[in-house]
Amino acid sequence: MTSKLTSLNRFASRKLAGLERRNLRRKLAQTQTLDAVAVERDGQRLINFCSNDYLGLSHHPEVIEASRQAVLEHGTGSGASRLVTGGHPLLFELEQRLAAFKGTQDCIIFGSGYLANLAITPALLGSTDLVLIDEYAHACLHSGAQLSRARVEMFRHNDMDDLAAKLEATRSDARNAMILTDGVFSMDGDIAPLPALLELAEQYDTWLLVDDAHGIGTVAGGRGAAHVFTPAAKAPLQMGTLSKALGSYGGYLAASHQVCELLRTRARPLVFTTAPPPAAIAAALKALDLIEQQPDLCERPLELARRFCAAAGLPDPASPIVPVILGDETRALEASERLRQAGLLVAAIRPPTVPKGTARLRVTFSAAHSETDVDRLAKAVQDIRLQCEAAH
Ligand SMILES: *Cc1c(COP(=O)(O)O)cnc(C)c1O
Repeated sequence: MTSKLTSLNRFASRKLAGLERRNLRRKLAQTQTLDAVAVERDGQRLINFCSNDYLGLSHHPEVIEASRQAVLEHGTGSGASRLVTGGHPLLFELEQRLAAFKGTQDCIIFGSGYLANLAITPALLGSTDLVLIDEYAHACLHSGAQLSRARVEMFRHNDMDDLAAKLEATRSDARNAMILTDGVFSMDGDIAPLPALLELAEQYDTWLLVDDAHGIGTVAGGRGAAHVFTPAAKAPLQMGTLSKALGSYGGYLAASHQVCELLRTRARPLVFTTAPPPAAIAAALKALDLIEQQPDLCERPLELARRFCAAAGLPDPASPIVPVILGDETRALEASERLRQAGLLVAAIRPPTVPKGTARLRVTFSAAHSETDVDRLAKAVQDIRLQCEAAH
């Protein structure tokens, strides 16, 4: 090997140095999970307050056993795309179960939530169409919008006046149009005004896609953001993930039969990728059983988030995701480090994941957390916030 840097390596080094200077470089840390909430990192045991495994189901004995049985019966991999020979029966079973749970005619499973969003918008829209997307929508909704080649208009977060104005100004120039939003927002934990979104979508003949990755299993007794409202505000395109409260891995779209059939033929991230492995699908099936049987379990993460917010002097949360906004990147990194020293794992979230000037701790709660750990975290976070205010 020559030690001379190639232009490729020089390019990478220069980019990394720039990110480092701005405190925006990200590092991967080896993290061993010990149980549903404890992890070990660099030999230290930490209570994890930044996982999306809201119900601790990734470590549930029945979920593990279902997954083990699936490996024994179907093997480890799926072998091919579902359109070739990868269509194992567990996939069809989970699709039916999720459609019933979401109240739709049909459902399609994808390799991940990210892949689902790369699939849905580009399969439905093209260059003569229009996307209106909430500025805080998840990165993969933005990527799906870009891939579709449609015109993309961002509207201010949860701002229905801004969305209405943008629809009024742009809708008539486009053939078809879609509104894209999170149901429960991933970095802020607030909930989209779904009834108002449905009304605008109807008024402007625009299709609504709601990404409820953080809603299933965590709000409205586990039924998701649509059910926070009465009557339930169900979008025609309901997307979500198997990777968070369901404790497994994969993504889905619940929709009408026609829409799902179109995607089975047209969605590139379904057609040209290997089907998700049987073990992951069996785990999600068992997790869905538990969610349906135990609405109380699904209420627990939000109860703990409320307890935390009351103790830390933060506003009452709408979901188990609580942002503690600290402003600049250094401050967020320092806060995360202080918590780590106290045995609490809370990641610092920095731009471009969140807007500039809103670097934060993003705290998430799991049904498996103890009240003692939640109270300990609340005390530590309150200390950090008081110190921050004093420094201003
Ligand atoms: C995590 C997340 C995704 C991606 O889901 P994965 O299954 O992890 O790929 C999509 N949308 C939102 C809002 C998310 O938070």
